[in-house]
Amino acid sequence: MVIVLLGAPGAGKGTQAPILSERLGIPILASGDLLRAVAATDTDLGREVARIMQTGALVPDATTVGIFLDRLDAPDAAAGAILDGFPRTGTQAAALDEALAERRSKVDAAILIDVPEAEIVRRMTDRVICRANGHPYNLRTAPPAVPGRCDVDGSALYRRADDEESTVRARLAKQLAPLGEVIAHYRQRGILHAVDGRRAIDEVTAEILAGLPSQAAASGRSAAGATADRVR
Ligand SMILES: [Zn+2]
Repeated sequence: MVIVLLGAPGAGKGTQAPILSERLGIPILASGDLLRAVAATDTDLGREVARIMQTGALVPDATTVGIFLDRLDAPDAAAGAILDGFPRTGTQAAALDEALAERRSKVDAAILIDVPEAEIVRRMTDRVICRANGHPYNLRTAPPAVPGRCDVDGSALYRRADDEESTVRARLAKQLAPLGEVIAHYRQRGILHAVDGRRAIDEVTAEILAGLPSQAAASGRSAAGATADRVR
């Protein structure tokens, strides 16, 4: 089962992805990790991706799609994978559909961890770290024992510039537009499943799992299961 995991930054994708990966027995394919791994290889593609990444430019969609398809061919992804961070735009989503269709495969479900923008901003501005070692805290969900001080080393807690509200809002505005395209793409295909990301972690996990097509097919998808899936 190929699952696309969607959500604004701070919506909880990073929390849910490893839980889902374990429960479903399929790997997480995170675009950043995947591109860095390819860039580290001594191949023409690796050198090209490394060069593009060094310039800070975006890797072309076709290249990224190709890298994901290759990764999906690895034995550990035989039963599927959780795509995180890709597709990032509506164009990429369409390119991925097309490439998967050529292989008689498809995205089976797109899960949106839905959190209102105001809540996302609050979550991101709740994050602080300590001066000495960067130990992370969350002022709401994981506060230090003594306000403003690290539990481990006693150093002062501060908010990174990246987590200041104005920075968070500016960054979100840039990210939410393409995310909206991807959401619209999968909604149109009828495979978008939105879950309320404001609930407890285990409740979000349960709702995601309940919304996936046929749990039986998810665990140890056999060749017969794969065929049935294609016919459907
Ligand atoms: Zn600390």
